[in-house]
Amino acid sequence: MPVSERTRILIVGAGPAGLVLGNLLRAADITCVIVERQSRAHVEQRGRAGFLAPDVVRVLDENGLAKGLHAAGQLHGTCAFRGEHGQFELNYGELGQRQVHTVYPQQQLVADLIAEFLDRGGDIRFGTTVTAMHGLDGDSPSIDCRETDGRTYRISGEYAAGCDGQHGVALRQMPAGAAQGFRRYHGVTWLAILAQAPPSMTAVTYAVHDRGFAGHMARSATVTRYYLQVPRGEAPGDWSDARIWDELGTRMRTGEYGPLREGPILERATVDLSSAVSVPMQYGRLFLAGDAAGLISPSAAKGANLAIVTARTLAVALTDALARDDQRGLARYSDACLPRMWHAQEFSHWMVNLLHGPAADGEDAAFMRLLQRARLVSLRDLRSHQDYFAENYVGI
Ligand SMILES: Cc1cc2nc3c(=O)[nH]c(=O)nc-3n(C[C@H](O)[C@H](O)[C@H](O)COP(=O)(O)OP(=O)(O)OC[C@H]3O[C@@H](n4cnc5c(N)ncnc54)[C@H](O)[C@@H]3O)c2cc1C
Repeated sequence: MPVSERTRILIVGAGPAGLVLGNLLRAADITCVIVERQSRAHVEQRGRAGFLAPDVVRVLDENGLAKGLHAAGQLHGTCAFRGEHGQFELNYGELGQRQVHTVYPQQQLVADLIAEFLDRGGDIRFGTTVTAMHGLDGDSPSIDCRETDGRTYRISGEYAAGCDGQHGVALRQMPAGAAQGFRRYHGVTWLAILAQAPPSMTAVTYAVHDRGFAGHMARSATVTRYYLQVPRGEAPGDWSDARIWDELGTRMRTGEYGPLREGPILERATVDLSSAVSVPMQYGRLFLAGDAAGLISPSAAKGANLAIVTARTLAVALTDALARDDQRGLARYSDACLPRMWHAQEFSHWMVNLLHGPAADGEDAAFMRLLQRARLVSLRDLRSHQDYFAENYVGI
């Protein structure tokens, strides 16, 4: 396929990573094209993350990307744990580094980032799939694009950024042996639920139950996210609205703590809690950012946060390379990102073990259940454990 267009930076994917990268490049007057296989309406309605760390809010603020977030985001500094041991709250805004989250639905942030990118004169192609990447080890990488009507074309650039998640095209284009992929399935699957219902509690609530984990997280005054641990392979369609509210009620112990505010279920999807890290996060002139570079289980709500900070690191390195002919940031891009990535993975894994009992009723199941209970009691009673939790829960 002949090259039909040229730009400086090729960005695959219009999630938080691709859009933050694109906006920062446009602010530095660097031309780029973002190619996104979904429609604009789809990415602006895809409900996922909501909890943003203060460091991430600062990155968005410093780059003129936080207007919507400050207008409609809500500050959250408390979470609660429920279980056999009773219920306790952690006011993490008063523990550790005394930091709080800003809750702002990811789809709203994505919509803000798209609008701002277009305002900055950005070029974004929705409904266009990148089917292959070429020349990544040379000085002029290119991407093959296919539009929904079947039209195909090739764009070349100086660098390419894979911001297209774990199932995108960029990871697959790294030649065998160029990077090592470290992966883990945590043995836990969640049914992720978005309900058209006001939050039932003031705090994020994690319920630990012998039937499995349940979680409650406010998204807005009218929408709440819930999670239910379910067997792997369960079909979301098997969970009717009534079954979901029933199971949430049992695990959230509504008999003791009061009823949930119910409403229609807007979305239900299963998520296998898995993690993956690519080492390094770059090959030739291809750089991975966000979920493409490292997937993290949603147990500690870090994915969108990591996507934004890796995109910022990459934007600074690309700007130095293109505007100042300084390649050092690009050369050490992986080394700059990986320690933060592994730190987040470690805490996320700790959260998985805090929130979930043993996956099966093996001979050590009772032991593991009691260990989990002891971990929760330590968190309830020991200030050192609470400070560790607060610092890592909000930090990135
Ligand atoms: C249920 C759920 C809850 C979550 N909750 C939180 C939370 O509270 N806090 C948090 O920080 N994180 C959370 N996350 C994780 C967070 O949503 C992700 O980590 C984040 O979206 C990653 O951003 P990204 O830009 O790297 O990738 P994505 O947002 O996945 O964007 C990648 C884009 O690339 C596009 N694409 C893929 N392949 C191609 C191709 N070949 N050509 C063109 N485009 C392509 C995709 O359509 C997609 O739009 C949650 C995730 C889930 C599933």
